[in-house]
Amino acid sequence: MPPSALLIQPPVYDFALFDLFLRPYGLLRVGRWLEEAGYEVRFLDCLDYRDAYTAKMLGPVRRRPDGTGKFFRIPLPPPYAGARRRFARYGILPERVEEILSSWYPKDPPSVVLIGSGMTYWYHGVKEAADLIRRRFPGSLLAVGGVYASLLPRHCEEVVRPDVIVQGDDLEALRSALGKEGLPVPQGVVPDRPLLLERVWREAGVLRLHQGCPYRCTYCASSRLSRFVPGRGDALFDLLMDYRSRCRTSTFAFYDDALLVGKEEGLLPFLERVLSRLGSARRSGLSFYVPNALHARFLDRRTASLMVRAGFREVRVGFESAEEGFHTRYDRKVTSGEFLRAVEILRDAGFPPSSIVVYVLVGLPGQRSDEVERTLSALEDLPVLVSLAEYSPIPGTSLWEESVRRSRYPIAHEPLFHNNSIFPLEWEGFTFSDLECLKRKVRERNARIRALSPSGSAP
Ligand code: SF4
Repeated sequence: MPPSALLIQPPVYDFALFDLFLRPYGLLRVGRWLEEAGYEVRFLDCLDYRDAYTAKMLGPVRRRPDGTGKFFRIPLPPPYAGARRRFARYGILPERVEEILSSWYPKDPPSVVLIGSGMTYWYHGVKEAADLIRRRFPGSLLAVGGVYASLLPRHCEEVVRPDVIVQGDDLEALRSALGKEGLPVPQGVVPDRPLLLERVWREAGVLRLHQGCPYRCTYCASSRLSRFVPGRGDALFDLLMDYRSRCRTSTFAFYDDALLVGKEEGLLPFLERVLSRLGSARRSGLSFYVPNALHARFLDRRTASLMVRAGFREVRVGFESAEEGFHTRYDRKVTSGEFLRAVEILRDAGFPPSSIVVYVLVGLPGQRSDEVERTLSALEDLPVLVSLAEYSPIPGTSLWEESVRRSRYPIAHEPLFHNNSIFPLEWEGFTFSDLECLKRKVRERNARIRALSPSGSAP
């Protein structure tokens, strides 16, 4: 019998969870790496929103045609006293998880189990999955990878207690553990494409042109998770064609942190191939989304025009703040002039106001609410939607130590307090009610902008 590998996307415990193209791209890349080494690979998606049993018990979840939407939700008491929001477990019911495992492994347990992880404050779901595996398959090699495991390996070791922790894209620890167990050891690097499972990718596929980001913004962990490795547009187009033929995928989300960087070798050849081989979006039926922001600095008219024609339905731009001092201090990635020019280019290319989403960063250590007010005023008449990106303190970033010093929560000791839903860096200069007030203003202005483009968000 071939060795077997079980991949698990664990449930999530949080105050809120919306599926903005949340897919196990990294985990399924490792799955492909194992499959190519001879493992029989299965994927257990604890966030599966189509599970018939859970839908029968909890009711179906609301999904959108673009592949985004809600997850199954079980309300729970808050994880600590004083929490100001409702808490929940998101995902399929625990008894359903047990049932799936029983049907997949009636006799022999999987040789190796890999659990993916996301936000640091989602570790309870990772622990739940790990505890279940330890109980059911005590002899299986248990590995945890992903963002939480990479940023907080010591916490993961103490709380989740796997056999192996995979940090970033370094698979050496896993390779070595497989060898010690007498299991096949995959050779070479992890492929840059995931296992193509129709159930996972039918509604929305994930494309990633470049790995990582060449910038070093003080609030972002991108460089902690991966170095910057540029990709090639022609290889990405081949992956798109495979998604189409194997999974019938027509909606795609780019997971890139720096999609426009090196666009001459990357995005432009990709878009040109899409258009020359499949035609414009009207003919190909393709839709593209960029849940991570684009760099305004690198946008030009040719790129924006190709994006519209190829089927980009929405563009997100990282502006963060209208205060030039902000960018000097925190990111150096954009100026107000570059941002305004990018919006003009997008509008001229045909993106309607409701398809341009601008991120404004709120809740940084020591940030005052009136600074955000000024940014919103600067954006007041601009025909774009605004999205407040609420800061989460992330271990290992330049702003981490300052966040630890300033937060009223013990963020260095308890990852649950990294959650931006609780406003970890609230202070008298920027209170929870200031934030609620800003959110209300943003909702009102966005409603006004949406009313200006009644034909919907698609260009
Ligand atoms: S540009 Fe974006 S992805 Fe890159 S470091 Fe800055 S915030 Fe992170």
